[in-house]
Amino acid sequence: MKIAIVGAGIIGVTTAYELSRDGHEVTVFEQRNAAAEDASFATAGLLAPLLTTPWSLPGMAPAARLMGAQSTVRLAQGFGRADVSWLWHWKRLAKRGPGPATALERLAQYSLARTLEIATEHELDFEASPGRLLLLRTEQDRAHLQAALQCLRDAGVAVQEIDAAAAQKLEPGLSPETPLAGAISLPGAAAGNCRLFAQLLRQGTQAGGVQFAFGTRVERLATNPVGVAVQGEATPRRFDAVVLCAGMASAALLPVLSLPLPMTAVYGYSVSAPLREDTHAPQASVVDVQQQISITRLGLRVRVAGGAELGSADAEHHAPTVARLYRTLNDWFPGGAQLSGGVQTWRGARTLLPDGAPVIGASGIPGLWLNTGHGTGGFALASGSARAIADLVAQRSPEINLDGLGLRRF
Ligand SMILES: Cc1cc2nc3c(=O)[nH]c(=O)nc-3n(C[C@H](O)[C@H](O)[C@H](O)COP(=O)(O)OP(=O)(O)OC[C@H]3O[C@@H](n4cnc5c(N)ncnc54)[C@H](O)[C@@H]3O)c2cc1C
Repeated sequence: MKIAIVGAGIIGVTTAYELSRDGHEVTVFEQRNAAAEDASFATAGLLAPLLTTPWSLPGMAPAARLMGAQSTVRLAQGFGRADVSWLWHWKRLAKRGPGPATALERLAQYSLARTLEIATEHELDFEASPGRLLLLRTEQDRAHLQAALQCLRDAGVAVQEIDAAAAQKLEPGLSPETPLAGAISLPGAAAGNCRLFAQLLRQGTQAGGVQFAFGTRVERLATNPVGVAVQGEATPRRFDAVVLCAGMASAALLPVLSLPLPMTAVYGYSVSAPLREDTHAPQASVVDVQQQISITRLGLRVRVAGGAELGSADAEHHAPTVARLYRTLNDWFPGGAQLSGGVQTWRGARTLLPDGAPVIGASGIPGLWLNTGHGTGGFALASGSARAIADLVAQRSPEINLDGLGLRRF
């Protein structure tokens, strides 16, 4: 089949890989001039397990609070009614129980296996590291994690509760100065560089025949016949199928089809700094459960990520949030990163639907497929979602159960 993909973030690139592998003729349309320039640019890099990633799903971490000293969400310049409504739904669902959590964790595990398989097969060095520690400053942090840990166990994920001394053995750079009540060790977890993985895969798929139309904006989707209308072109280009992987822009491309997609961008930050001293730096990834901040080793760099803001894409960077990232890095790994130069600060969007789960599957319009809304777990879910959508396009049953991840739930 001749297939168009809209968007060359981590989701579009992995989708292109799987569809091309199935023998389709694939063209990826991307408005930017390279792959992974938008939300996939400087993510925390956490692969599975998904549920202990900050902001994974409602109810999986400390509550979303706007007010007071314990506030976890910030209203930035440009926030609107849709943001507030999203927050209201998120808080309501958090009280209801796990929802699609176990199914999503299984997808994350499937996805991790696929990511590692692809990396091994094509010798992609994407700065991957195995294992993760969830750092508990207090016993209350442990309580906040219980729902997520139960879902992980239900999904067959190895979860080990360990004390501070055992945590120190796994991550010798952890500062003994910062009080640590204990940690959760996730030995099967992994992390890596999302943008690097996307770029290496883009190169490989391009060499294998996938066309990447960079600097090409899709203005709208055509439905009958299926295709994409490219900015500046009078007639839509025809395809046998179109897969929408446009991240936060996906909702804006759907109204022509009268399909609702109630997405909100929850912005977060990352700070990436060169490694200073290996023995003082993380060896893999850790999550500070109280602060909802992750620290990841990516090759010769350390990346700290967190923060949650509702507002506009071009709001100014919020200095106190960025300062909190530095403070958390310094609490756990003082001296591990070089902070005097070569530091990159990034603000990016987590494209979240109210239940935190993506939409993977048919749109209801023959030939138009959706693979979008991966929220906090785009990297963690990419390879599995891509394999699943390729199976659906080929009229095969995916190996992984996608119940509850379709558009119908809205
Ligand atoms: C601070 C932070 C930390 C994160 N950490 C993690 C993590 O540790 N693990 C994890 O799994 N996820 C993480 N995420 C989430 C992750 O970044 C996203 O889920 C993921 O990048 C989404 O990928 P995507 O391909 O859907 O979107 P994008 O990367 O945004 O790609 C969509 C692409 O579509 C293009 N596009 C849009 N409209 C059009 C159009 N009309 N025509 C042509 N092209 C178009 C855009 O230019 C863009 O390149 C994090 C996010 C943030 C903000």
